[in-house]
Amino acid sequence: MQIIHDPNELAALCRGWRFSGLHTVLVPTMGYFHEGHKSLMRAGRESGDRLIVSLFVNPAQFGPGEDLAAYPRDFDRDAAIAREMGADVLFAPAPDAMYLPDHATWIEVPSLSGTLCGLTRPTHFRGVCTVVAKLFLLIMPTTALFGEKDWQQLAILRRMALDLNMPVSVKGLPIVREADGLAMSSRNAYLTPEERAMAPALQQGLLQAARLLATGERDTAGLAQAIRAYWEKQLPLGQEEYLSFVHPETLVPVDHIENTALVAAAVRLGKARLIDNLLLRAPVA
Ligand code: AMP
Repeated sequence: MQIIHDPNELAALCRGWRFSGLHTVLVPTMGYFHEGHKSLMRAGRESGDRLIVSLFVNPAQFGPGEDLAAYPRDFDRDAAIAREMGADVLFAPAPDAMYLPDHATWIEVPSLSGTLCGLTRPTHFRGVCTVVAKLFLLIMPTTALFGEKDWQQLAILRRMALDLNMPVSVKGLPIVREADGLAMSSRNAYLTPEERAMAPALQQGLLQAARLLATGERDTAGLAQAIRAYWEKQLPLGQEEYLSFVHPETLVPVDHIENTALVAAAVRLGKARLIDNLLLRAPVA
């Protein structure tokens, strides 16, 4: 596995691959790898001729007062994991190699970025879109893999690639969870033992909605009430940032579930901000 820090060196290598007709898969990450990252790398390794894992804690997607400096990092461990997973390249640029001091160009998908996580993180997704677009231009992957854990991010990046005719297939893979159901996240490292013990209640609450939906409750107000009642008991240290039922692609709020809807939530638990989601399907009438 090559470790490349210089974007120009990476671009030269990838241009050769692209023009030889090789199928290159990109897995963009911010590092501190867990099984969620590994599932993307595994899928990439299995489906492509070349696998590139990028490791970049992208300053542009952190707002003022967020955890950019504190974000967990362990480069040597991450490099060992990427190598073990069969990556051909680990691309780990320094921030100043990716952004000029007077960086001035942003990519935004406002219609999908103002809701859910965008409510409290107004500049987050333009940072994500911009860095992913830069990675796409440098690498020219045929496929890029993302986790459904960050459902909104995936919806936005799909839209970006479609609208801008980017010749890359943006694919999502299922959420990987701990044995007790907590969605894996690098930020779980912030949880105290007490917070970690109650954190699975985030997903358990969403599962309450799925159960209630199966019994015939299709109004999302009723489903939300059941989730909040569960969290009140089982997640007492959590502070809800949002709990929303939305159309899975357009992210438009849904009041009544006809077929499918996504329930998505963000909860603050101590120093961590946890997100999770679940695709709901109404029973066939
Ligand atoms: P991150 O390093 O947190 O930016 O995540 C890099 C990629 O891994 C993103 O596409 C995430 O959606 C994905 N990812 C993070 N956590 C999980 C998880 N628990 N299951 C599946 N994919 C994940």
